Amino acid sequence: MFGRAPKKSDNTRYYEILGVSKNAAQDDLKKAYRKAAIKNHPDKGGDPEKFKELAQAYEVLSDPEKREIYDQYGEDALKEGMGGGGGGHDPFDIFSSFFGGGGGPFGGGSSRGRRQRRGEDVVHPLKVSLEDLYSGTSKKLSLSRNALCSKCNGKGSKSGASMKCAGCQGTGVKVSIRHLGPSMIQQMQHACNECKGTGETINDKDRCPQCKGEKVVQEKKVLEVVVEKGMQNGQKITFPGEADEAPDTVTGDIVFVLQQKEHPKFKRKAEDLFVEHTLSLTEALCGFQYVLAHLDGRQLLIKSNPGEVIKPDSYKAINDEGMPLYQRPFMKGNLYIHFTVDFPESLSLDQVKALEAVLPAKPSSQLTDMELDECEETTLNDVNMEEESRRKQQQAQQEAYDEDDDMPGGAQRVQCAQQ
Ligand SMILES: [Zn+2]
Ligand SMILES: [Zn+2]
Repeated sequence: MFGRAPKKSDNTRYYEILGVSKNAAQDDLKKAYRKAAIKNHPDKGGDPEKFKELAQAYEVLSDPEKREIYDQYGEDALKEGMGGGGGGHDPFDIFSSFFGGGGGPFGGGSSRGRRQRRGEDVVHPLKVSLEDLYSGTSKKLSLSRNALCSKCNGKGSKSGASMKCAGCQGTGVKVSIRHLGPSMIQQMQHACNECKGTGETINDKDRCPQCKGEKVVQEKKVLEVVVEKGMQNGQKITFPGEADEAPDTVTGDIVFVLQQKEHPKFKRKAEDLFVEHTLSLTEALCGFQYVLAHLDGRQLLIKSNPGEVIKPDSYKAINDEGMPLYQRPFMKGNLYIHFTVDFPESLSLDQVKALEAVLPAKPSSQLTDMELDECEETTLNDVNMEEESRRKQQQAQQEAYDEDDDMPGGAQRVQCAQQ
């Protein structure tokens, strides 16, 4: 039945499959199975083998008698006791009986051939700060949703009975005929207004007093969304089967999609953090230290090594001060600091002299007067290269447009004009 043969006296594997301890209470087993089975259900893209194992483990451990045999003699003893056929029931049956019949949260599985309508998932964006993703947090959110009426179990009536709607003969649809002229009629179909398209009605006396026959009631539900350390922008947190309930419908999921707000200081790339810092020229040349407040409020002292020069547009890395990794929060990415150096706009002649005295000598390029006489004077103009290239691009576009504009002969004319 299983991919790998269990050891002869193995009596721990079922506990491991469900991820519970050997002395787990029934409630813990239930919770563990529920969570794992929903996650691994083949209808939700889970592994069928794993799903089967979960059902098997839960079936045994939830039965006190079987659990005792298992604890004492292990898996093999149970298989013999179950008639040698490897034991166990259909995992889908175990799953749906667990969820109280009606096919369970996913309609009993497509593999069984009975399909139930599935309710829609409800998706909410959830804004979080980078601090939230760094340290982890939990947010309580109050949502209102339709829940099956507890008084009538979603039947709408006290007796559980319903009648065929007289208005539509149970079809849920009404046809109305309009006479447009002596020999012209128009037929129109619309959902029956008496039964709201369901095809059934409930006797007034039998109507459930709690939901007034609506089968569902509004319910306030508080969900605690746990944002774990290291979660990513766009990551989904799913609450299976918590969306609106409706009769004969598999309840959809509530899905929160994390949306990370821009951070004024830190930028995130996967597990790394980036931060900008501007140094004065003096700091870049002669050393610096400053305090950087991290996302969890810790104060990091950032300082240069003695004698070290920081070049403009260079990076330094601080290891293990980036984002924690999702579900491995003890591991962290790096923190990169990008340095910009603020140069002075100009220097006085005294400053120039003082600097020349201490800085490495200029490359020697003493020109003789005669050599200088042979050179042409030039002027260095200030320029903004970004603006320059933008202007050039616009110019090129304009020219391309002009050429496109006047067809074949046009090209020649441009040539002529240029000559
Ligand atoms: Zn009707
Ligand atoms: Zn009711």
